[in-house]
Amino acid sequence: MKDLLGGKGANLAEMTSIGLPVPPGIIITTDACNQFYVENRQFPPGMEEQVREKIKTLEEKTGKRFGDPDNPLLVSVRSGAPISMPGMMDTVLNLGLNDETVKGLARAAGDDRFAMDCYRRFLNMFGDVVLGIEHDKFEHILERQKDLTNVQFDNQLTAEQWQVVVEEYKKLIERETGSPFPQEPMEQLFKSIYAVFNSWNNERAIVYRKVNKIPDSLGTAVNVQVMVFGNLGDDCGTGVAFTRNPSTGVNELYGEYLINAQGEDVVAGIRTPQPIATLKDTMPGVYKQFAETCTLLEKHYRNMQDIEFTIERGKLWMLQTRNGKRTAQAAIKIAVDMVNEGLINKEEAIMRVEPAHLDHLLHRRIDPNAKLQVIAKGLPASPGAASGQVVFDADEAEKLGLDGQKVVLVRTETTPDDIHGIVQAQGILTSRGGMTSHAAVVARGMGKPCVCGCEAIRIDYAKEEFVVGGVTVKKGDIVSIDGATGQVMLGEVPMIDPELSDEFQQLLTWADEIRSLGVRANADTPADAAKARGFGAEGIGLVRTEHMFMAQDRLPIVQQMILASDVEQMNNALVQLLPMQEEDFYGILKAMESLPVTIRLLDPPLHEFLPNAEDLMVEITTLRLTGGSADEIRQKEELLKKVRALSEFNPMLGHRGCRLGITFPAVYAMQARAIFQAVARLVREGYKVIPEVEIPLVIDVNELSFLRQVVEKTATDVMKETGVQFEYTVGTMIEVPRAALLADEVAGAADFFSFGTNDLTQTALGFSRDDAEGKFLQHYVEKKILKDNPFMVLDRSGVGKLMQTAVQLGRSVKPDLLIGICGEHGGEPSSIEFCHITGLNYVSCSPFRVPIARLAAAQAAV
Ligand code: ADP
Ligand code: MG
Ligand code: MG
Repeated sequence: MKDLLGGKGANLAEMTSIGLPVPPGIIITTDACNQFYVENRQFPPGMEEQVREKIKTLEEKTGKRFGDPDNPLLVSVRSGAPISMPGMMDTVLNLGLNDETVKGLARAAGDDRFAMDCYRRFLNMFGDVVLGIEHDKFEHILERQKDLTNVQFDNQLTAEQWQVVVEEYKKLIERETGSPFPQEPMEQLFKSIYAVFNSWNNERAIVYRKVNKIPDSLGTAVNVQVMVFGNLGDDCGTGVAFTRNPSTGVNELYGEYLINAQGEDVVAGIRTPQPIATLKDTMPGVYKQFAETCTLLEKHYRNMQDIEFTIERGKLWMLQTRNGKRTAQAAIKIAVDMVNEGLINKEEAIMRVEPAHLDHLLHRRIDPNAKLQVIAKGLPASPGAASGQVVFDADEAEKLGLDGQKVVLVRTETTPDDIHGIVQAQGILTSRGGMTSHAAVVARGMGKPCVCGCEAIRIDYAKEEFVVGGVTVKKGDIVSIDGATGQVMLGEVPMIDPELSDEFQQLLTWADEIRSLGVRANADTPADAAKARGFGAEGIGLVRTEHMFMAQDRLPIVQQMILASDVEQMNNALVQLLPMQEEDFYGILKAMESLPVTIRLLDPPLHEFLPNAEDLMVEITTLRLTGGSADEIRQKEELLKKVRALSEFNPMLGHRGCRLGITFPAVYAMQARAIFQAVARLVREGYKVIPEVEIPLVIDVNELSFLRQVVEKTATDVMKETGVQFEYTVGTMIEVPRAALLADEVAGAADFFSFGTNDLTQTALGFSRDDAEGKFLQHYVEKKILKDNPFMVLDRSGVGKLMQTAVQLGRSVKPDLLIGICGEHGGEPSSIEFCHITGLNYVSCSPFRVPIARLAAAQAAV
């Protein structure tokens, strides 16, 4: 019942019902929260009476009474949304304390220091969360007291010293709010419930929901729960643990605890906590019970759990459990291990891994053989490597990040208020806090590299620098961090290509069994083709021949071809290009032996291969001023003339794609010849190759028929010349709406279709991508005019409809028509799902995204 009770409440109820030790409590539902917002931030009618009624039940259960000066009942007021948003909303502990009940608490526990410790925590949290007084102001008072009494840690203060802090806190509250701290427990309770409801719409919660695409309409539940105390002495403590390692996935208890501490001390990095394994020695009985409970919870939820617990005088209490956030690496290992342990099936394992999170596993990491200038080592909190400028402030990290710069955010510790900066940073480095600190949890959730608790670095925010050993690193200096080892390095470091772990391979093998959609790669070189094949590509969906034209040694010949003033000159250039292209195709087709390779003929406007006009003018002027030779100047002027003649108002809609083939059939004929000569050679050498010749930017079947003839004639010629028979197909890209709408006609001349959804999105929406992304698209997304950037996530309703139309019309003529997609959408999970639904045969994406596509295609099929 997570939607109604919130994740925290639902799981607390569930743990209670399976017999685990959970302090009793009551849950105010998300319905109440939503009603609260409908009624202009007022409690829904009847809610207050019900709460009072239920508090009585808690009093009966515990034998304590709310506000009782002798034996007071204390509660926590905890937020809990249906989807976990760690640390985003607020919690108040030790509620029910006041100047009278604190004495009762002290007497009941036989411990004055403990009671005062609870009271000061309550005043601080209540002041911060409910009354909106900055936490720093409380912290300041506490720091001063610690200085005065010359102690280092909070838990070293005595009851009397806490008493001083408490009095100051109360004064602070009165000063800041204009009225005294509310002593009445019921008033405290309702004010806290109000604050938790309100915290659903605090800034950081809103940002978090936006980043994680959580609907604003869910609302939060409120849990009012009887307090248990981890701060009652050395047989007490509090901790957080994962049932498996959330960073690597290894099946071991993983977490931290603090002796004699309460709640958030562990996460906040007040003292550095101890690893959970040491609990085995300090409290063997509790450890055993805890380990058994973890196993039980994993079996129950069939998932790795993230658990909060407290030990009160040797007794274990469970305070929270939820499915733990984990890195992609851990997600894969845990999913595969759980299948092997019989906890889940393969389909579930497939669904447990978020394809988008695989991204950084498929990205480069630090070269293990590189010589590194390691300046410090912290905790390896979230794997992956990052390099960037040092920035000490989240706002600045956000600004530079949005500006396209790479930054590493360096903080003593992060708080939920830094979330916008973390989003934009390449990586996070903190000097305090453990593996479960805020920075670590958030970074793992986002798949961002993080090194935390790097205590060797001394950060000076005022000077905007940190010092480590003898080294001073200033704002703007480049550092690298390795979240897998915890190392911090000066400068950029060399990186290498990733390898897939055994578990990753296993998961992908299962994905291949489940999916029906094929996965190909876009690749332009034999090396990329081989890489794609290694990642499991079942062919190439797009070879862009123009990339081959751009190579340094070829560009002059390509330019000669473009600048040719007669047929002879052009042929001369083409003759030179032919063997070069043939070698390219030979290499790629060979690397993809026995798999299909779609080769697209020349696509971009010709002026892309020429220098730009302004540069040329500067060169000419310079030559003139420095007395360059007349010949050279004349040549450059000729070139400039040609560049001007070729320049277009709107190149995207200009002389490109098959329009070049129509105007200059010799160019396409040369490319076709290069393909077929390579094919003939390979066939003769005994290779099985499957070439697919693709004509871009078609709007009408007549274009395709015309160019098909050019290609077919070339094939026939090559077969005659070489005496080798070979197979090939000729097809087209569908990337203009007209082609999609006339797909039945186009299919008459096509053996296959491939959706070029980058262009199809541009032409369907009338957005030029380069202009849209910089200028207005983000406003469309922010103002919710479009749900997503259509260049990243396929626009199902518009572009998708054109695709569906084309599929339907094309297959009405040729039921077995091979149809794929080669736009960047081919590697994006939601778009892949759409391709599956629409009945495409395959998606094609960049080599590094092939594993993502294999997984996403399987998820679409589950
Ligand atoms: P968050 O969602 O930020 O983790 P929680 O509501 O879980 O906030 O509470 C914050 C901390 O207080 C946690 O460490 C939790 O275990 C502790 N806590 C909450 N309620 C109680 C309680 N009734 N007794 C003891 N500790 C509690
Ligand atoms: Mg919690
Ligand atoms: Mg295109």
